[in-house]
Amino acid sequence: MSEAQAATASAVAKDLAGQVAFVTGGGRGIGLAIARRLIAAGATVAIFDREVERAESAAQSLRDAGGTAHAYAADVASTESVDAAFAAAATQLQRVDVLVNNAGLTRDGLFVRMTDEQWNDVLNVNLGGAFRCSRAVARGMMKVRYGRIVNISSVVGLMGNAGQVNYSASKAGLLGMTKSLARELASRGVTVNAVCPGFIETEMTASLPEGARADMMAKIPLGRLGAPEEVAEVVAFLASPRAAYVTGQTWTVDGGMVME
Ligand code: NAP
Repeated sequence: MSEAQAATASAVAKDLAGQVAFVTGGGRGIGLAIARRLIAAGATVAIFDREVERAESAAQSLRDAGGTAHAYAADVASTESVDAAFAAAATQLQRVDVLVNNAGLTRDGLFVRMTDEQWNDVLNVNLGGAFRCSRAVARGMMKVRYGRIVNISSVVGLMGNAGQVNYSASKAGLLGMTKSLARELASRGVTVNAVCPGFIETEMTASLPEGARADMMAKIPLGRLGAPEEVAEVVAFLASPRAAYVTGQTWTVDGGMVME
C-alpha cells in the first residue's frame, strides 16, 4: 500500500463495518482498487475472478495490508461457475451486502469484420455477467431489505466508440439493466447504480496504440487519464448506507469528457 493509499484508508468512514462486499474481476485493475477501498471502509471483501491464482494473490495482498479478503474462482460468463462461487462464499461469509459488477473485457475490431465470437464474448461477460451475479444475490438482498449493486459500465456506453460496437453495446445495455433493476428492487431497500469510468490507467488501456491514446487525451478536459482509486471512491459512496436515496443513476468518472 502506498503512502497515499494508507492515508486514505485511515481517513475514510468505516461505514461498511460488518458488511460483506463482492467484487467481480477484483483480481487486478479497477476491481482491485475497489476491493481495497471497500476494505478501507470496513468491509470484508470477496474477490471473484476467472483465474483462481489471480483472485488468490489479490486477496493475499489485501490481507497483507490488514484487510479481510477471500478469493473465489468465478467465470461470470458461466451461470454454473457464478452459482458455485456464490454457494461457496455463502457457506464462508453468510451474507451479501454489496455487489460490484466490475468484470469486463474488450474484443475490439471494425464492425464489418467483427465475428460472432467477438460479439458474444463481450456481451456474455460484460452484460451477461452482471445479470448472472445480480440474479444470484437479489433474492437474499430483498429478503433482508438491504443491498447495494454497483455496475461498472463505461463512457463508451454513453457516447459510443468506433471499433467497439460490441463493447459499447454491452456497456449501454448495463445502463438499461441498472435502471430496470433499480425500479424492480427499490421497494425492498436495494439500490442499483452504474459508474461510467472514462479512460483509466489499467492493463486494459495500457494496450492502446499511441495514436489512439493521444486522440483520447485531447478529449479529456482534465488532461490526464484517471486512476483506478478515483473510480473506487465513487463506487465506495454508492456502496455505502450514505447513498440510500440514490438509485438507477449513472455516475460518470471521466475527467469531464462527457458532460450532459
Ligand atoms: P482489467 O485490468 O482487464 O481487469 C479486468 C478483470 O476482470 C481481470 O482480472 C479479468 O480477468 C477479469 N475478468 C474478465 N472476464 C472475466 C470473467 N468472465 N469472469 C471473471 N472475471 C473476468 O480491466 P479494468 O481496466 O480494471 O476494467 C474493469 C472494469 O472497468 C471493466 O468492466 C471495464 O470494462 C471497465 N472500464 C474500464 C476502463 C478503463 O479505462 N480501464 C474504462 C471504462 C470502463 P482475465 O484477465 O482473466 O480476463
